[in-house]
Amino acid sequence: MRLNYNKYMINPFKLLGISDDVVNAVKDLGFENPTPIQEQSIPVLLEGNNDFVGLAQTGTGKTAAFGLPLLELIDFKSNKPQALILCPTRELCLQITNDIKNFSKNISGASVVAVYGGANIMQQLREIRNGVQIVVATPGRMLDIIGRKAIDFTNVKYVVLDEADEMLNMGFQEDINDILSTTPDDKKTWLFSATMPPEVRRIAKNYMDSPVELTMGTKNTGNVNIEHEYYIVRARDKYAALKRIVDFNPEIFAVVFCKTKMDTQDVAEHLIKDGYNADALHGDLSQQQRDKVMQRFRERNMQLLIATDVAARGIDVQNVTHVVNYSLPDEIESYTHRSGRTGRAGKTGISICIVNSKELGKIRQIERIIGKPFTKATLPTGFDVCEKQLFALVHKVHNVEVNESQIEQYIPRIMDEFAELSKEEVIKRFASLEFNRFLEYYKNAPDLNSSADDRGERGERGERGERGPRNSEGYTRLFINLGSVDDFTRGDLLSFVCNNGKISGKSIGKIDLKGVYSFFEVEDATVESLFNNFKGVEFNNRGVRIEKTADGDGGGERRGGGERRGGFGGGGRREGGSYGGGRSGGGDRRSSGGGGRREGGSGGGGFRDFSGRSREDRGGNAGGAGRREGGSGAGSGDRRRRS
Ligand code: AMP
Repeated sequence: MRLNYNKYMINPFKLLGISDDVVNAVKDLGFENPTPIQEQSIPVLLEGNNDFVGLAQTGTGKTAAFGLPLLELIDFKSNKPQALILCPTRELCLQITNDIKNFSKNISGASVVAVYGGANIMQQLREIRNGVQIVVATPGRMLDIIGRKAIDFTNVKYVVLDEADEMLNMGFQEDINDILSTTPDDKKTWLFSATMPPEVRRIAKNYMDSPVELTMGTKNTGNVNIEHEYYIVRARDKYAALKRIVDFNPEIFAVVFCKTKMDTQDVAEHLIKDGYNADALHGDLSQQQRDKVMQRFRERNMQLLIATDVAARGIDVQNVTHVVNYSLPDEIESYTHRSGRTGRAGKTGISICIVNSKELGKIRQIERIIGKPFTKATLPTGFDVCEKQLFALVHKVHNVEVNESQIEQYIPRIMDEFAELSKEEVIKRFASLEFNRFLEYYKNAPDLNSSADDRGERGERGERGERGPRNSEGYTRLFINLGSVDDFTRGDLLSFVCNNGKISGKSIGKIDLKGVYSFFEVEDATVESLFNNFKGVEFNNRGVRIEKTADGDGGGERRGGGERRGGFGGGGRREGGSYGGGRSGGGDRRSSGGGGRREGGSGGGGFRDFSGRSREDRGGNAGGAGRREGGSGAGSGDRRRRS
């Protein structure tokens, strides 16, 4: 007979000093082992006689780190507030309240109240009147309630300042002072902060008595489970870059940060129009709207949450795969908070910055703050995206759960329909169903990577670079409408140019192989003859074009303007190849991408229309919205299954 050793093992939370009721509750939550911050803080806080400063990221299990000891220290026979937890946002307030309610579910008489703005104050006052031991509050509303003399803090023994740096960033310093002045002098203060700017230091100094300090991870360091990447693109390509990142990550479940409410709304609106399952979260939405957005995101009925720093602060949503910094935060320190939305509870995550070359200095600053290097990533080509999407589909087909009893009735008819086709043909057609849409959308997709990065770096450092994307001295940079999608390597391109242009390999400088086009340099002296020799040259029945790039434009970026694509279309060389130019090209692309998405990806009934009402609320829709909604049901189900 096998012995069940687990049965005899003492629960690690119990070993830290947590009582059975609470241990059982955290077991129910699936917490098997304490996180490092819990392991370090719980024994110290359980002593109950120290002030405490914990330098820790969000997502590391901070709430239980202070919540579990609090539950051990509070007298639940009394109905008086004994612990006050202050935090910066309503979302965090609700999260903490919810967590503590879960931790204390087996403690009879335990009562926690959430006090936050934007909600009915009467209800909160009623809950307080009924008796609570733990108050979780945002500073503004707390002060309001204190002002109404509706709460008595004379029995408060513990004050927790959670995300202290954020509270100060948000201008709550005075409110905190006022609130703390209503609590007894001998209370203990526990402060948690992801970063330790001087203002937080000052709080520690002013309000605490020789606090025990614990640093979880390196000071100011980001979560170790997060990888940091940046992409360099031109400002005007930012949106296209975001879309490409999303398309290349079919399973993405991300928070996208913008600097302003307007940007947030704008990006979300574009994504929705393009058929993505996205919505905006910012301060101009009513609390009810924000709740709805958050609920959809939490339930994974939405794939992309586009948010401002303030609105998304502290939110704890499980399994966020990516954080995208659509724009870098003004306050570099905010980066840690943004990236902390992913890589939570021991999971890994990726924090992406979409930047232009001038912002590289900021990336270096962030690296210093988080103590971790960024990886410079390259945006995938259209071809890469198609490949990725294709195999995601193949994988999905392979793993889909078949509802035998439901599908059975249709099988004979399906078999009939496919009777003429071999298994291989059927597979090809199924795969093409999705693949064709991406192919159509991406077939002439430009390379969005800005090769201006070297220039940016050099500019910032004041160095003179070697050969960058600009012409090297004595060389002319040329565009050619051939690239890696034509199965060219740089070597292939070199021989192709030399053979057809009848020039020696020595006359060729740098070759910049892209997807559907490339750039190469030739000695100034050979340009004319090269052009002459290339007249009428074809590749795969397609006319080959070479053109001079605009001097000093870096060439690589010019295609973003759309002339190139217009060129392809105008030449009629690419099958079905007309491609709108620049931003308007984006519109074109969006409609095709949206079309693809509508069936495959968009969803979550009731996209917000930014007038505050969900689309469901509105009688008539513009054609675009109607179309999207037409496809949204299936899309939403699709996403859910995927996640
Ligand atoms: P927090 O930093 O408190 O916001 O926690 C981040 C996430 O980690 C939350 O979703 C918690 O439910 C989860 N969590 C906290 N402690 C543990 C633990 N010991 N084991 C597993 N998950 C945990």
